[in-house]
Amino acid sequence: MNVAVLGAGTMGHGIAQVSAMAGHDVTIRDIEQELVEDGIASIEDNLRGGVDRDKVTDEEMAATLDRIAGTTDLADAVSNADLVVEAVPEDVDLKKQTFEEVEAAAPGDAVIASNTSSLPVTEIVSALDDPGRGIGLHFFNPVHIMELVEVVVGEQTDEGTVEFATDFVADVGKTAVEVRDTAGFASSRLGVALGVEAMRMVEEGVASPRDIDRSMELGYNHPMGPIELGDVVGLDVRLDILEHLREELGERFRPPQVLRRKVRAGKLGKKTGEGFYVWEDGEIAGVSGDWGDEE
Ligand code: NAD
Repeated sequence: MNVAVLGAGTMGHGIAQVSAMAGHDVTIRDIEQELVEDGIASIEDNLRGGVDRDKVTDEEMAATLDRIAGTTDLADAVSNADLVVEAVPEDVDLKKQTFEEVEAAAPGDAVIASNTSSLPVTEIVSALDDPGRGIGLHFFNPVHIMELVEVVVGEQTDEGTVEFATDFVADVGKTAVEVRDTAGFASSRLGVALGVEAMRMVEEGVASPRDIDRSMELGYNHPMGPIELGDVVGLDVRLDILEHLREELGERFRPPQVLRRKVRAGKLGKKTGEGFYVWEDGEIAGVSGDWGDEE
C-alpha cells in the first residue's frame, strides 16, 4: 500500500523506514527539502548499520530505499495514500491543521494517524469532517528497534480504522496494544508513575538513586532504573508530562519538589551533564548532590 509520513524528524524517518522495509511505498514529507533529505539520510544510516550487523542484506537495503520518495508538497505526499501518519512537532494546533490539510488532499478512504505521544487523539481527529478515520499510532524511539506501538482509539474512531491500524502495526513487524484515548495512554502513565515514586523515595531518603535504580534493574529486570531513565528522557520533559497528567488524572501525579528544584537549576539530566546523576560523555560519572559520594 501507499504510506505517507509527515515530518522527517526523529520519529518520521523511523516510521518511513519500517513501512518501506515491510514492502510499502512511502512518501515522506517535511517543510524544507534539506529536512526531507536529512530524514532519508538517517534511514540510509540505520539500514547501513543493519547491514553491518548482518540484520539487513544489501539487497533489502537497496529495495527499501527504492520504495521511499521525499517531497515538501503535502498534497503530493498524500494524494495516493492508503495511510497517512503524521509525526510533526507536538503542538495540538499544528496537528489539527495538518489533519485538516490531509483530509482535503488524501483519498476519501485513507486512514489518518497521529504519532502524538501525549496530546488527546480525540481532539486531533475532531479536526476531520470524517473523524471516524482518525486514530493514534504511537511509535517509540528509535522506531526501527522498539517493538511496541500503542494504537490509540479516539472517541470517534471507527472500528474499521482500529482494525486497519492494528493490521498495519503487525505488518511492519511490531506489536500493537489498543488503548482508549486517555492522558498518558498506557505506557507513559505507568512509566511516569514509577519515575515519580522513585523521585519521592530519593526526596525522603529511602535509598540512594543508584540503589533505587539497581532495585528495579536487578529485582525486576528493567533494562534501566527509573531515576536514570528520567535523566535520559530529560527532567524538564518529565516535569511537563507530570503537570499534564496531574491536570488530567489527579494529585497522584503531582511533581515532587526535588524535580522542580532540579529543573529550576537547569539540571535537566544527561543532556545538560547533571540531573539526579552527573554525566560525562553520555555516561554516568557519579551521583548528584547528597548522594554524591556513594558508589
Ligand atoms: P522532530 O522535531 O524530530 O521532527 C518533527 C519534524 O516535523 C521536523 O523535521 C519538522 O521540520 C517537521 N515539521 C514541522 N511542521 C511540519 C509540517 N507542517 N509538515 C511536515 N513536517 C513538519 O520531532 P519528533 O521527535 O520526531 O516528534 C514528532 C512527533 O512524534 C511528536 O508528536 C512527538 O510527541 C511524537 N513522539 C516523539 C517521540 C520521541 O522520542 N522523539 C516518541 C514518540 C512520539
